[in-house]
Amino acid sequence: MDFEFRSLFSGSTGNATLVRFKDTLLLVDAGRTGKMLEEAVCAQGYAMKDVRAILLTHEHIDHIKGVGVLARKYGMEVYASPGTWAGMEGKVGEIPAAQHCEFVPGQDFYIDRVDVLPFPIPHDAFEPTGYALECDGHKAGLLTDLGHATKETLSYLCGVEAMVLEANHDVQMLRDGAYPDRLKRRILSNKGHLSNVSSGEALCQLLNSSNPHVYLGHLSEENNVPELAYSTVAEILRDYGAKLGQDVKLHMTFPDHAAEAYIG
Ligand SMILES: [Zn+2]
Ligand SMILES: [Zn+2]
Repeated sequence: MDFEFRSLFSGSTGNATLVRFKDTLLLVDAGRTGKMLEEAVCAQGYAMKDVRAILLTHEHIDHIKGVGVLARKYGMEVYASPGTWAGMEGKVGEIPAAQHCEFVPGQDFYIDRVDVLPFPIPHDAFEPTGYALECDGHKAGLLTDLGHATKETLSYLCGVEAMVLEANHDVQMLRDGAYPDRLKRRILSNKGHLSNVSSGEALCQLLNSSNPHVYLGHLSEENNVPELAYSTVAEILRDYGAKLGQDVKLHMTFPDHAAEAYIG
């Protein structure tokens, strides 16, 4: 029971994932109001004051909404790339300098005994990152808001045990849907969001190194359906020769409530 991975919220209305390695509790993204995040953490049996640090992936509001409130109230450290800090300016209020922690994407650092590796990802933000978190042989991965998955991006998640992977949209639903053309182009671009098919293909590349629990995340409420995301990814995995439930376990995430926890 040294490792827990809990998706609290996932989607364009807000993202947050709670990851625990032994005594170190980390919140990755804080994309709901401070109050909603407090309640969500409580519902998992923890208190916000137990959260050692908040790690941010990028400055889009669905990832940072509650970070200012929580940082001021609880005093935890907040980690983000220099670009993300710049992009956040004026959006979340003041975060005290002592809690302001910057990293260089691609270079790892430690929070307590947890090895934190933020890595650059292609997305239309200032300096977005994914995360690989490792401690005592357990490894967590966070990979959403990803225009496309490169070999390099996926290499950071080699050997991952539990992760959130974006399955944002069904390409046909997006194309046929009501979004303005400019927004459709943005989402479909290689700096936009990962489709169900691209998500499944990316996942196949991870299976040589691990048998992960994968939480399909950041589903569009407009251009996706949970069952469709699941079945599309599952079909690609089966075509690849993977055994579902054995080589890889798929889980759903939800915009308004927590997913089933992974405890390792
Ligand atoms: Zn997002
Ligand atoms: Zn984003």
